[in-house]
Amino acid sequence: MNLSNCSLPIIGFSAYSGTGKTTLIEALLPRLVDTGVRVAVIKHAHHDFDVDKPGKDSYRLRKAGASQMLISSRYRNALMTETPDDEATLKQLIQKIDQDQVDLILVEGFKNESFPKIELNRTETNKPFRFPADDNIVAVACDSLPETSLPILDINNIDNVLAFVLKQIESHQAQTATCDSLSPTMLSVDRGREKILASLEFPTQTHVVDLDALTNHVLASPVIAPVNVPSSTNSAMDGYAIRSDDLDAGTYTKIAEVFAGQGYKYPLQKGQCVRIMTGAPVPENADTVIMREQACDVEGLVTFDTSKGKIRAGQNVRQAGEDLRKGSQVFPAGTRVSAPVLGMIASLGLNKAEVYPNVTVALFSTGDEVQAPGTPPKQNCIYDTNRFSLKGLLQKLGCEIIDLGIIEDSKTALADALKQAMASADVIISSGGVSVGDADYIKSVLTELGDINFWRVNMRPGRPLAFGKLGDTPFFGLPGNPVAVMVTYLQFVEPAIRKLQGEENWQPQRIVAITQEKIRSRMGRTEYTRGSYNINANGQLEVRSTGSQGSGILRSMHEANCLIEVSPEVECAEIGDRVTIIPLASRV
Ligand code: AMP
Ligand code: MG
Repeated sequence: MNLSNCSLPIIGFSAYSGTGKTTLIEALLPRLVDTGVRVAVIKHAHHDFDVDKPGKDSYRLRKAGASQMLISSRYRNALMTETPDDEATLKQLIQKIDQDQVDLILVEGFKNESFPKIELNRTETNKPFRFPADDNIVAVACDSLPETSLPILDINNIDNVLAFVLKQIESHQAQTATCDSLSPTMLSVDRGREKILASLEFPTQTHVVDLDALTNHVLASPVIAPVNVPSSTNSAMDGYAIRSDDLDAGTYTKIAEVFAGQGYKYPLQKGQCVRIMTGAPVPENADTVIMREQACDVEGLVTFDTSKGKIRAGQNVRQAGEDLRKGSQVFPAGTRVSAPVLGMIASLGLNKAEVYPNVTVALFSTGDEVQAPGTPPKQNCIYDTNRFSLKGLLQKLGCEIIDLGIIEDSKTALADALKQAMASADVIISSGGVSVGDADYIKSVLTELGDINFWRVNMRPGRPLAFGKLGDTPFFGLPGNPVAVMVTYLQFVEPAIRKLQGEENWQPQRIVAITQEKIRSRMGRTEYTRGSYNINANGQLEVRSTGSQGSGILRSMHEANCLIEVSPEVECAEIGDRVTIIPLASRV
């Protein structure tokens, strides 16, 4: 492994002793943790250091000859490796860090190793700067103004140092964003979705469903028109049908009245007309209808007032097959049955269609603080929101839902629920408690039962996402915050379910609008601001956010008619900028 292309960003602190390296790292750590960054620290120490204590069991076993001593308890574990001959290199030490568990490695010491470092210097220590000699130094944190082109940070301003470290993480992510590492610590939204979709198969089973149950199924075979729609050329108005080669006749003899559902069985002769109702088939030879309001019918002799409108050959007639032509493909396989699709299938005279089975989804919530709606409020608890917003979303896709409720905080309860879900559902969704770094039983049960990845997606709201298979059943572990649940569902779960239902290459609608507000964002991250768009007086589409954007404020989702998507390459959108919006109509 080359240190410079480790999958995690590494930042070291380089300074003479007495400058306050540990104090600075100690102050920096809680700030990093607050921003959601999980940090590993590798620290160099004097050659005779020992974490163990004489008399402890681990100490005794080590002294008895264990080259490696791994000691573990409920809350932590420690691996002690004896290195009597050669001290481990920084590379070897980095390999011992569980890269799934952290986003950043901070290094204290190892001044002779080559990796990016921030030099710390205080005037009071009276020491020279190292940066002229060490070209691994990427910034200098000090209380003076040395002559250098490197960024100079204020060693007494932790915000300043924090901002630099966060920038280093981002630029590392930007560089590695295209690499697909085995354990992606930070995934882009697009990459996450690609990975999910690539792991799912299109359905193979099909069945035939009656019209009444067809809505929201996906067609498994194309619909070919068995008949013309309309079946015959018919009138688009109430009026009089004549021949277009007889426009000059002036006066016509009315020979019949034709109502919808009837017909006139003889060919129309020149000089003749029929009175005809909307939808009634025009007689043979007739091809032009003049509306009733233009006609003057005096005892069966009809004239037309052309001052109310010129008569054009072929007007006011609907051609047989002009909507759907017999023999043509009306819908390809993979079409979702919406209201117009349902109507069109019926208009062809068909009363059933071959479809893919609709997906069955097992759903549960986790969290000790989560209680069921309808129960008296308990102290420090919140009502289960996510299970219900998710049900609403899944119903939009016509999914069958198996509601597993709130799973109590026990390994066996969870394992039982998951096994039941694996046996009966096509997809399993949970919310809460699966954040990377949540060292809880949910993760351990999931890992025991299947192959689950705990991702951190570079998006807001959202970020933690667990995805993988429990047996053959795809499992989504969504975040806990109610807005994050809905947004991650829309980005990852909905496209996945649509694929499992047989819809090919489904894409959400994306359009461009002009933002009326500055939309905050951050390089490297996809931001989904809940927005409301409308057409302004100049006919332009404009959009603004729906106010408070906290990921627990579900109202922001209700008030939104779109998500404003600010992509990772964009720092922030200013008033008047064009932004991408994803309309939510019909999806939420
Ligand atoms: P977690 O991902 O479990 O740490 O949860 C993040 C936040 O979402 C916490 O404030 C939880 O209380 C909240 N949360 C988790 N599950 C639910 C739920 N089912 N309904 C509403 N809020 C939830
Ligand atoms: Mg939780």
